Amino acid sequence: MERIGAFFCAGCGIADALDLAALQAAAGEPASAHCVDHPNLCSPEGIASMQAAIEAQGLDGLLIAACSHRAKQREFRFDPARVAVERVSLREQVAWSHPAKNEDTQQLAEDLVKMGLVRLAKAQPPAPVSGTVERTVLVVGGGVAGLEAAAAAAGLGHPVVLVEATAALGGHAAGVRDSLPARPPYDVLHPNRLLERIAEIEAIPGIRVLKSTKIKTIRGEPGRFEVEVETPAGAESLRVGAIVQATGARPYDARRLDHLGYGRLPDVVTSHELEHMLAEKRLQRPSDGALPRRVVFVQCAGSRDPKHLPYCSAECCGVTLRQVALIERDHPEVETATVYRDMRTPGQVERFYAAVQSRPGHLFTRGEVEAVEKNGRLSVHLRDSLFGQSVVLDADLVVLAVGMVPNSADGEKIRALHDAQRRVEKGESETQREEARKSVEQLRQHEGTEILNLEYRQGPDLPVLRYGFPDSHFICFPYETRRTGIYAAGALRDAMDVEQAAEDGWGAAMKATQCISALARGEAVHPRAGDLETPDFFLQRCTQCKRCTEECPFGTLNEDEKGTPQLNAARCRRCGICMGACPERIISFPSYSVDGVASMIKAMSVPEEFEEKPRILALLCENDALPALDAAAERRRGWNPWVRVVPVRCLGSVNLVWIADSLSRGIDGVILIGCKRGDDYQCHYVRGSELAHTRLGNIQETLGRLALEPERVRIVELSHDESDRVSEALDEFASTLEGLGPSPLKGF
Ligand code: SF4
Ligand code: SF4
Repeated sequence: MERIGAFFCAGCGIADALDLAALQAAAGEPASAHCVDHPNLCSPEGIASMQAAIEAQGLDGLLIAACSHRAKQREFRFDPARVAVERVSLREQVAWSHPAKNEDTQQLAEDLVKMGLVRLAKAQPPAPVSGTVERTVLVVGGGVAGLEAAAAAAGLGHPVVLVEATAALGGHAAGVRDSLPARPPYDVLHPNRLLERIAEIEAIPGIRVLKSTKIKTIRGEPGRFEVEVETPAGAESLRVGAIVQATGARPYDARRLDHLGYGRLPDVVTSHELEHMLAEKRLQRPSDGALPRRVVFVQCAGSRDPKHLPYCSAECCGVTLRQVALIERDHPEVETATVYRDMRTPGQVERFYAAVQSRPGHLFTRGEVEAVEKNGRLSVHLRDSLFGQSVVLDADLVVLAVGMVPNSADGEKIRALHDAQRRVEKGESETQREEARKSVEQLRQHEGTEILNLEYRQGPDLPVLRYGFPDSHFICFPYETRRTGIYAAGALRDAMDVEQAAEDGWGAAMKATQCISALARGEAVHPRAGDLETPDFFLQRCTQCKRCTEECPFGTLNEDEKGTPQLNAARCRRCGICMGACPERIISFPSYSVDGVASMIKAMSVPEEFEEKPRILALLCENDALPALDAAAERRRGWNPWVRVVPVRCLGSVNLVWIADSLSRGIDGVILIGCKRGDDYQCHYVRGSELAHTRLGNIQETLGRLALEPERVRIVELSHDESDRVSEALDEFASTLEGLGPSPLKGF
């Protein structure tokens, strides 16, 4: 930016803490176009004065030295195609967190202003994603979640194509005779209305249903996905803007629960097998076809067990209660007993539980089933946890309430399929290629595993986290997967019951339609919603090292035959992880680049050794660490005045050259503060924090080369509600550096 105006706010205690005239003088060039302060910059008059200056002076960059960039976003919004805006947090990072009218406080403010100005000077106008955006939503999976996603997207005015692999819609729920009560007083079953709902949805004019249809391939990017499907009438091509995957879940394989006898004892069945019997009104022992006198239900069969499914499968308690009530209705003479760890009956299901429990003939007992054996009748051996006793229950039929496994492609299978596909293309002989083709076919037919067949360099399906659910960020962004524009709904996304799956379909459809709308405006989707920037790759200097393609968590980049990255801009979440990865430093965003941040670091004042004032660079993730710092300031919690904060999009976007440059300049230490890593993650870009840890492991070598102590670089993880910890972390780091003494590189 060439014509920059610097605007200083005197409100919110800033003028009480700082000498604003001195600050403006220190700003100097390149802010000379316009440099003013205003008593209340976010007021209508303040905004009008900035707008007038843009017109009168032809400004193309605005430095707003006022509150945190997280505050007053609506007020400080200007046409991004005309002016770039850089916010300097004088309020939170200076006036509210440091002593007023103090030399160190004033120096801190001067540094932050200079750093903001240099970053703004390096900024370029944004280059939004452009091109036609298809409004059609593709829904893959015609169970309850998929049906409701289709209804929701059509209701929002989007054409919908609903693809179902089998010949019928409705999934498992269509085979259920009666549903849990949905109306007060919530104590009796009501008929399953799903078939009527399917007919209603099929009749919606904007929804096209393709049954017995498989996805052959999906290529392209959000807004412009090209989908090849194989229908009973032949192959067909579709163009869609966004995708909802709602391929549901399958029952856990009960044969793995050896102690419960399934597969060994014919009268041990799963809750799904009992569902079929009840739907056909033929409750019987499989061994001899007789009506059982007592049915024992074993809850959590496989669920909440670290050796099997460590999570709660969410629907099994409700299913058992429904089945107990159906048995009572059809066969009042049959007794039931239910052995549970906890009956989990959220919402109104609790009332139904109380109603079933109060009727005679149903025993509910808390315990852990240790074995099921045949000894004439079946014997269920359990450790009753209410009385601490071992108990044996006789049974004629044992029903295992098995957990649910998402119909995602597991990582091992994705890798095997990917390898086989490569061998099909690159096999050395026709025999090898033919074998690879057979492997691809077999892998695609793997029971219960649905594949989107994405033609992405990173693999053909949604990456999954622990337990097989394809999350991107389950805490903040439900429905988001790690493939932009593709949203997960229903039991594929998380273990849930039918009612939750219906709501989930609506949630995912909202996300899919939001994605289409954002792309039509050229904007990014979550978490940088509204961002108009896309990364720029200066490919003339690319060495085809593949780090960017391999480390991008969102599968944004394909490669050409030489291995040069090919950007699919609409898939990009703008995290900057590729920018942090690239050893050639050739990836940048218009307002965020390796050069831009390096220039900010150069603009920091670095006191000489004799001044005994260390200088600390704090690279803070904008997603959690920076909000935590703002919250600390709001509570007037201060931190060490030698710290200079540079916000980063993600710790994964930190290029190691920034750390090496800082230490070479004589900056005494560098602290990186970001989100928690791992599968219970908070990292908004899934892998950024983890990648930062891995890369920082390599910085030790640089420190050794510079004869510096490893303690001069630290990484801290926290969540956005840990505002006390963020200021403590900065203070502790400052104390450590004081203990180490000044950087030996000062003055070089
Ligand atoms: S790493 Fe992030 S910024 Fe880079 S291409 Fe992937 S999503 Fe976009
Ligand atoms: S990381 Fe940089 S050098 Fe390596 S492939 Fe990507 S763009 Fe090219």
